[in-house]
Amino acid sequence: MSIEPDAVSIKVVARFRPFNDKELAINAGSSFKFIGDECVNINGKTYVFDKIFREKATQEDVYTFSAKPIVADILNGYNGTIFAYGQTASGKTHTMEGVLGDPDWQGIIPRIVEDIFNYIYSMEENVEFHIKVSYFEIYMEKIRDLLDTTKTNLPIHEDKFRVPYVKGVTERFVGSPEEIMDVIGEGKSNRAVSVTNMNEHSSRSHSVFQLSISQVNMESQQKLNGKLYLVDLAGSEKVSKTQAEGMTLDEAKNINKSLSSLGNVIAALSEGQSHIPYRDSKMTRVLQESLGGNARTTIVICCSPSSYNESETKSTVLFGTRAK
Ligand code: ADP
Ligand code: MG
Repeated sequence: MSIEPDAVSIKVVARFRPFNDKELAINAGSSFKFIGDECVNINGKTYVFDKIFREKATQEDVYTFSAKPIVADILNGYNGTIFAYGQTASGKTHTMEGVLGDPDWQGIIPRIVEDIFNYIYSMEENVEFHIKVSYFEIYMEKIRDLLDTTKTNLPIHEDKFRVPYVKGVTERFVGSPEEIMDVIGEGKSNRAVSVTNMNEHSSRSHSVFQLSISQVNMESQQKLNGKLYLVDLAGSEKVSKTQAEGMTLDEAKNINKSLSSLGNVIAALSEGQSHIPYRDSKMTRVLQESLGGNARTTIVICCSPSSYNESETKSTVLFGTRAK
């Protein structure tokens, strides 16, 4: 399989989904002007990305540019993180997961899983692979295990190299793409049963799917370890809007705080600052070794195409350009 590692460490792409029925009914149109496939102009201001995907972009297009190079990096022993950021209903889950089991409509996660196993199956050298996955969510600064519902507030500890990790999180060893997809299905159904309204809940919590690959070359004994975090973030909408949707002020403030601490960490990394404020939120602590340094990061900025959502889209786009 020919997938080449990427040289750039933080990549920011924007994806504008098609108009939905509600937006078509309002008929507000779109005031965004796209210039080439890297720039968008909103109200006279131009924002630049590594790439902008518009409504006709396929799941495969988005995967190939945003995630596929990171798969090569992980298999070469690097760590990485892929985030989807945006207001509720902007297309985050569609981008990360899509329609599971549908070859055209599946999103980034199942495509990554497929590519990893294609790589393993095509490997001619004598290499032993161990793959393990974890699946958890962060809600109100509490880490909940999606593979064991009795673990509702897992602590973060540091290992002997001072690398933070989620202590006690369930780890499943997996040996095929089907097994990984089963674990994802299990996590998703656990997530849904513990809440009354899954859509509301998913807009208030971050979901984190973690995949670790270790390899040992049986001839040279060379070892490689790579870890990848795939994160579907909580909705980034402003407090005024969220309260109208029944979110409590506590929830809204919490989300706001963790998203802005993520923004601060990414901005500090891209500006090359010496102090990176990882300790400001659970999310940034968990991701510490997979954000910055040698780690590869892609942020997918998800946007509505409609003028109706212009102010949210503007702040979403700003989050993305801060990372450049
Ligand atoms: P979020 O996770 O950001 O809240 P979703 O991914 O659930 O948003 O998307 C909201 C709705 O829009 C879903 O029904 C989803 O299938 C649809 N959708 C999102 N992005 C696209 C796209 N690029 N093409 C087609 N449908 C999309
Ligand atoms: Mg979602």
